[in-house]
Amino acid sequence: MWQERKYIEKLKSFEINKVNYLKNSSINSLLIYPNSYYSGMSYLGFLQLYKFLNEEGITNCDRFFFEDWKDPITFDNYRYVSDFEVLLFSIPFEGDFENVIKILRDNNIEPNKNKRKRKPLIIGGGPSLWINPYPLKNVFDIFVLGEGEEKLRFVFNHFRKIINGDNNVPKMKGVLFELPMERKAILNEITFEKSCTHIPYTKIITKNSFFSNMFLLEIARGCINNCKFCTVSRLYHNKCFRDLDSIKKVLDEAKGFAKKVGLISSMVLEHPHIEDILQYCYDKELEVSTSSLSVKGLTNNIVKLLRMTNNKSITIALESLSSKTRKEINKDFTDLFFLEKIKMILENNIKTIKIYLILGLPYEKDDLKSQVSLWKQLLNLNTIFKANIHFSINPLIPQPYTPYYNLPMQSKKTIRSNYKWFKENFKGLKLKFEGINNSLKEYNYAYNTDDILEKM
Ligand code: SF4
Repeated sequence: MWQERKYIEKLKSFEINKVNYLKNSSINSLLIYPNSYYSGMSYLGFLQLYKFLNEEGITNCDRFFFEDWKDPITFDNYRYVSDFEVLLFSIPFEGDFENVIKILRDNNIEPNKNKRKRKPLIIGGGPSLWINPYPLKNVFDIFVLGEGEEKLRFVFNHFRKIINGDNNVPKMKGVLFELPMERKAILNEITFEKSCTHIPYTKIITKNSFFSNMFLLEIARGCINNCKFCTVSRLYHNKCFRDLDSIKKVLDEAKGFAKKVGLISSMVLEHPHIEDILQYCYDKELEVSTSSLSVKGLTNNIVKLLRMTNNKSITIALESLSSKTRKEINKDFTDLFFLEKIKMILENNIKTIKIYLILGLPYEKDDLKSQVSLWKQLLNLNTIFKANIHFSINPLIPQPYTPYYNLPMQSKKTIRSNYKWFKENFKGLKLKFEGINNSLKEYNYAYNTDDILEKM
């Protein structure tokens, strides 16, 4: 344990932690991120819940990350997982489902709820479970679907009744003790807070995260764009642009301890007050970084503001070099329109541009000539502006609840040959391809409803 503790102490020495821990709860709980410290500390959903549970006095909440440790202990108080009355798993990615089982087994906790004795109560939440909670149906005592804060308040308010098996526990939408037989019914259980004055944000920052030392806040929830391959518009059916005054208050708080803020959302540029938000950051001398941006929302003024707030790189979700494919998936704009936006970014002296693409979408190989021509123009701009335009390329993973639900997942061989096709036709800019095994795993857990315990 001493080795682990030493390592944790080192990580903690890099944290700036402004969470107000209210110690008025009798229930000790542990918030678990089923992957590394680095990725957990990059996930706003996890950080928001940790802040909320502790600051509202709902429960004394410790943190746990899944690291390759001989003697795993908790992050804040160096305790064992089995010491806690409640374990809360926050799971954004399906790929981490197996880690949930490993964590429980490593800590001598029976993963099968039907065989488990009373302690601890195990709760699961996070977007991966909204898509498909069924592989973990026999693991979690409670599933929390949708925004977790008020649902967890409800669970802790009724904690004693729940663990005593009292039949009089009232019901709350999105808090499920059993999963419905019909998968479609899950969608109706995913609920969100109505108020858009509620801003999820973090009060811990560290350099050991993807968003190194960045204060993260969510400025909008869900997405209005309805791209055909994407679950976001379908899962977050209660879309919301967070209120400007509330965002400003949170930014005032950020000013106290971070130099840089990360504006998190699937629709950063669609926010009706995005220019005001960026201007406010500039006035407060806060640097800005953002989630990936929509091509259509980029204006010269916004790019200027991004530059003024010291944004050195921009990420764009183009999805396909083919305009025919873009039209099919609901991202309908011409190559010329896209090239003008790239030029505009470069002219504003932002030289690093990351572009997301998906391979395996309909029509993508139909108009190779025009795609090669678009590529050549990008290459040209890259050379003229001495820029760093690079690509992140992922295979299409047909997702539940989307119009592509019934498309078969591409085989390993097809993904490999698509990657090869791309490399052969598009040369001269940096390409990064998503791991094939990870993608297949993600697809499997998004679709397959079999009990994970049967194969682990
Ligand atoms: S791909 Fe992006 S823009 Fe399209 S619906 Fe999903 S989150 Fe929105």
